[in-house]
Amino acid sequence: MSERIDTEVAIIGGGLGGCSAALHLSRRGVPVALLDKGAVGAGASGVNFGGVRRNGRHLEELPLAERSLVDYWRKLESWIGSDCEYAETGHLKFGRDEKDAAELEAYAEQALAHGLKLEILSRNALEERCPWVGEDGHVASWSPTDGQANPRLVGPAIARAARAEGVEIREQSEVTAIVQDGHGFELETENGILVRAKALINAAGAWGAKIAAMFGEEVILETVTPQMVVTEPMPYVIEPVTGVCGGSFYLRQIPRGNIIIGNGGGGVAELDASRAYVVPERTLETLRDVVRLIPRVADAHVIRVWTGLEGATPDHTPVLGPSRTTPGLFHSFGYSGHGFQLGPAAGAVLAELVRDGKSKSEIGAFGIERFAKPEEGSGGTARRAPNRRS
Ligand SMILES: Cc1cc2nc3c(=O)[nH]c(=O)nc-3n(C[C@H](O)[C@H](O)[C@H](O)COP(=O)(O)OP(=O)(O)OC[C@H]3O[C@@H](n4cnc5c(N)ncnc54)[C@H](O)[C@@H]3O)c2cc1C
Repeated sequence: MSERIDTEVAIIGGGLGGCSAALHLSRRGVPVALLDKGAVGAGASGVNFGGVRRNGRHLEELPLAERSLVDYWRKLESWIGSDCEYAETGHLKFGRDEKDAAELEAYAEQALAHGLKLEILSRNALEERCPWVGEDGHVASWSPTDGQANPRLVGPAIARAARAEGVEIREQSEVTAIVQDGHGFELETENGILVRAKALINAAGAWGAKIAAMFGEEVILETVTPQMVVTEPMPYVIEPVTGVCGGSFYLRQIPRGNIIIGNGGGGVAELDASRAYVVPERTLETLRDVVRLIPRVADAHVIRVWTGLEGATPDHTPVLGPSRTTPGLFHSFGYSGHGFQLGPAAGAVLAELVRDGKSKSEIGAFGIERFAKPEEGSGGTARRAPNRRS
């Protein structure tokens, strides 16, 4: 072995979940080592759309999303020393017909019971407030306190803050073997690092189920590849982040003028090679769909396309909580296309679980035991999120 690290907590994965947990733990005085097989913040956390929204989320995620917004997104500068271009621009979810209108209204009523206040905008209100919306925009739900941030900045900024607190971060260090005994965990990386720790956090994103399987915990994790597009700069008119019923696309414009567009998936995933590829036909389909709702996009030149690897659970909510089989092991993966917003608070939850054995956030719905086979004593049932991605 080229290096040996003895620590309290080892973290596999330097996305938002892992980096945030490392920062929270180190600020509570807990020694931490974080290992990533690539660069920190370069997985899904670094290539995502940048939507920081609660509108349309699974209702059980709303309390955690609220904690993320209030305690971290709004305080990024004081929390990690950079605002990462976070802006509370609001979020509009469009509907194209009466069926969508009914869906948006029903969700708004349910969300209100969970503390999220949404306003339903009629066609007339949309024409007045968003003159850039085309005829397809029949109705929308408006969430003024949602927003957006630059995903390329957030993960590295949290990692920098964690490093400054003393967290040992090793990049290009893939964990290939884990041994657990009565004293804790021993991790080996393919580049010769040996880490000994009393507790282990599995924050391995799309690879999270592989780590969980090493401890006898089976989770079916689909690899999804939302496809992203960015256009040349256009006059800045679209202030809110936008989405649409059915989730076929989402779009935001940054003050520099570039328009960023994403869809629900359709790229090619090569999980073992850590690679994902755009399928151009799917991108073109998405752009045709966008133009019907936001016609000005037809005039924009696309300057870049990309995709990334994300793990999606059957019920489209994350696995966040203690292991079912192994004391000292905690999971955080399977955010199913909407974990950027949740990441900062997910790290706080993980730190509480490691230090206090419980979290002040309600995370019962995210337990890994919901995926246990009936003969293993599951009792859990699959749930479906109202809006799958971003
Ligand atoms: C294209 C795209 C668009 C999205 N848009 C949005 C959005 O707008 N809003 C939103 O809220 N969410 C969005 N998401 C989802 C969001 O990005 C993810 O849910 C979130 O970033 C997941 O964070 P994570 O820390 O769990 O995983 P990741 O960021 O993927 O981090 C996991 C890390 O684990 C490392 N790792 C894996 N296995 C090992 C190993 N064996 N050893 C060492 N390291 C390992 C990987 O290298 C990786 O860096 C999007 C996702 C994608 C892909």
